[in-house]
Formats: sequence, C-alpha cells, structure tokens
Amino acid sequence: MPAEPTGNGRHVVVVGGGFAGLGCARELARHDDVHVTLIDQHNYHQFQPLLYQVATCQLAAGDIAFSLRRLFGSRPNVDVRLGEVASLDPEARAVTTTDGRRIAGDAVVIAAGSQPNFFRTRGAAQHAFPLYSLDHAKALRARILGLFEEADRDPSLIERGALTFVVVGAGPTGVETAGAIADLIHDTMSVEYHDLAVSAAEVHLVDLGPVLLGAFSDKAHDYAAKVLGRKGVRLHLGVAVQEVADSHVTLGDGTTIPTRCVVWGGGIKAPDLAAAAGLPLGRGGRIDVRLDLTIEGAPGIYAVGDIANIPGPDGHAHPQLGSVALQSGTAAAHGILADLAGKTRKPFHYHDKGIMAMIGRGAAVAEVGAHRHELHGVVAFSAWLGVHAMLMTGVRNRIDAFVDWGWDYFSSGRGPQVLDRSDDARIAWDDEPEAEPAAV
Ligand SMILES: Cc1cc2nc3c(=O)[nH]c(=O)nc-3n(C[C@H](O)[C@H](O)[C@H](O)COP(=O)(O)OP(=O)(O)OC[C@H]3O[C@@H](n4cnc5c(N)ncnc54)[C@H](O)[C@@H]3O)c2cc1C
Repeated sequence: MPAEPTGNGRHVVVVGGGFAGLGCARELARHDDVHVTLIDQHNYHQFQPLLYQVATCQLAAGDIAFSLRRLFGSRPNVDVRLGEVASLDPEARAVTTTDGRRIAGDAVVIAAGSQPNFFRTRGAAQHAFPLYSLDHAKALRARILGLFEEADRDPSLIERGALTFVVVGAGPTGVETAGAIADLIHDTMSVEYHDLAVSAAEVHLVDLGPVLLGAFSDKAHDYAAKVLGRKGVRLHLGVAVQEVADSHVTLGDGTTIPTRCVVWGGGIKAPDLAAAAGLPLGRGGRIDVRLDLTIEGAPGIYAVGDIANIPGPDGHAHPQLGSVALQSGTAAAHGILADLAGKTRKPFHYHDKGIMAMIGRGAAVAEVGAHRHELHGVVAFSAWLGVHAMLMTGVRNRIDAFVDWGWDYFSSGRGPQVLDRSDDARIAWDDEPEAEPAAV
C-alpha cells in the first residue's frame, strides 16, 4: 500500500512525469519525511528525444517509455497517480483532475511540458502529424508504413504523393526526422519493398527561416544541409507552409506538393494547463517564474521545465531542452527542501551541456560547452550519445542498453527492428473522408 501524505506540512504535489517532474520527484524521494504525489496523464515517462526513432521504426515504443510506478517502486514516500490535471487553485495549493479529483499539497510543482504549436496554419491541426508524444510517434509510424503498403498495392498512387513525405520545421526535431525518414527509405524500404520503385520516394523539409538548425553555427547549418542533400532531402527554406490538406501541402511561394504525410516539427507552445492555472504568463504562454523557480504572488507553487519561462543569466529564458527540464526539476526540489528547513532558496543555475542534433545514421552536429566547440560526424555522435545517456540516467538508473543501442545504431547500419502495422490508420484516396491522424 502506498503511504499516505504525512500531514506534517511535507506533502508535495508534482504535475507531470517528464524530465522536470522526474527530476523533482527523484530528489524529494530521497527524503523519507517528505511525501510526493506524482500525477501524470500517462502512467509512463516518455523519452522525447528518441520519439522520431519510434516513428521511423528504429526503436519500439517500449524502448523509450518507462513505467512511472516502476521507476518509484522502491520509494514508499512517492505515490503515482494517473490523471489529467485541469486546473490549479494557487491559494489552496491544490490541483483538480478532469475526473474531479482534488489533490492538495503543501507545495505544488507544475511540470506539464509543451504541446505542438501550429501557428494557425490552415489544416495543420487536422492533417499534420506532430511528434511530441509516444501516441504521435506511433500514429506517424503507422502512416509511413501504411503508405508503403498502399504504394505496393497500387504503384500509381506514388504520383499522387503516396511516397512523398513533407517535414515542417528545420530545428533539431525536423532535421532529425527528415534524415531518419530518408534513411528508412534508402536503407530499409528499398530492401523490404523490392518490387516497388522506392527510388521515387521524396522527402521535403520546409522552414520559414533561411537555414537549417537556426540555433547552431553557420558551419553546422552548412554541414546539415550537405548531409541531408546527400540523403536526397529537398530543402524549401525561407518559405512558409500556407495550408496542409489531406492530399497535399501548399507553400507560400505557390508550390503544391502532393502528400499524405506531413510531419509537424514547426514549434511548441505551453499546454492548456498553463493558462488554466491562473498564474502570470509570458512568452509562448508559458508560466513566468523567478530565478528560484517560484512564482510571483503564488507562494508554495513552482513551475519547471518546458512549461516555464525560466530566466537565464543574460535575461533571456532558458530554451526548452531536456537538460534544462531535468536540472530545473531538481532545483525546485532543493528550493522546497530549503523552505521546509527554513533556509534561503538558491537561484537556479543551469549547467549548459550544449546543443546537438543527429542528422540520420552516422552524422550529428554538436556545440558543446559555453564556447560552443563544434563537433561533427563520429565525434558529434559520441557527444550526442553521452548527453542522452546522462539524460537517461535522470530517468532510470540503467543506461547500458541505451549505450549498446547507440553504438550498434551508429556503427552497424542495422535496419529497423519493428515493422508492424498493428496501429494502422486507414488512408482514403478518393472522395471518401480519410481517417483522422492522432488527436493533438
Ligand atoms: C521530438 C523531440 C525531440 C527532442 N530532442 C531533444 C534532445 O535531443 N535534447 C534535449 O535536451 N531536449 C530535446 N527535446 C526537448 C525535451 O524533450 C523537452 O525539453 C523536455 O521533455 C521537457 O521536459 P518537461 O518535463 O518539461 O516536459 P515533458 O517531457 O513534455 O513532460 C511533461 C509531462 O507532463 C504530463 N502532462 C502534461 N499535461 C498534463 C496534465 N494536464 N495533467 C497531467 N499530466 C500532464 C505529460 O504526460 C508528460 O509526461 C526534444 C523534444 C521533442 C518533442
């Protein structure tokens, strides 16, 4: 039986079991006299950086989803509750779930992440495939595999876009996904579908900005463009997506691309809970927090990870990154422990591990440390693996399987392990309405 809250002023409610929520709950769990209730709408943690690998059949869903109950199984002072939090009462320090449960604590930590931002692009919410959750990754995988089966059944559909994949957004998510789809086509589908003209498949990458990986250096922009070019990815830079329809996408320069698969990596915004929490909001609709991750006018409430605008030393908010989320969650736990001990909270200090992106199998760019050393190829991939292995240790203690997988993936050129269509989504080609992609 899980232990009940202590009633001694030491009950902490954590909303969200992503990097930030786990970082916080993990740290608090080490203190037997603190009780934690961790609430998430899923009963698992999803490791977002590897979602695109599930979508492109390189990993199975179970490889990147970890049971929250199992992660805290040995900690009797942590209760995991499955539920979607709909609102917060900051004064009472209580949250209410969509099914009407009210859970109050002495402190509340909001760590509910992000949701896709379609920037009001016509048709995008209905027809594009976002990539921010395991459900999204599974829906995209089903669509990609479904399209290959459709083209195999009727090759004339290739002209109508059956094997044309359009990725929107040239940040790390879009670049990684475009590279992985290109690898899937060339390394695997060309073997699996040997009767099909797989060489007719196209991958397009579209971004309003003029370069790939805008947050990286010029050298990285050029390297990413070169690698994707080698993989046959067609770039449409400096052009907006005007409309996403069920059978095509239209760009701002008038280009129309027939396609049944538009991947949306175009941006994120705060989840609805941020506005429903009744707290001060800033850029991207995120909750504005102070240097110590507390919120003006809401004592005992903390916001961490993607949902928060966390001020950095230069006044700009820290970026939405797994390492920022994990470290801010841990820092919020330290703040709460300081509150309990009657000590002064310390400001959050982010240890910047750098930024990186993998551009398909065998290539990555990384800019590591305050001086932004640029790394490419195998060295960058090693850094990518190291940083993600560290993130993985924030989630669970074992990282050996991850490191094994990483080296195998990089060095062996092995094909995807999962080619099932158990979660298939039907595709309509004529006038009948097509099955909706996963709800956002
Ligand atoms: C495709 C992709 C690739 C990425 N790659 C990298 C990378 O390589 N490196 C890197 O550092 N970062 C990467 N990021 C960013 C990183 O994953 C996020 O910054 C990080 O996950 C944020 O952590 P978080 O805990 O704030 O939110 P999340 O990890 O999103 O967790 C939020 C949790 O809250 C739960 N939740 C949400 N709303 C509610 C609610 N109302 N009630 C209950 N529970 C709720 C969700 O189910 C989820 O478990 C990537 C992100 C994406 C989408």
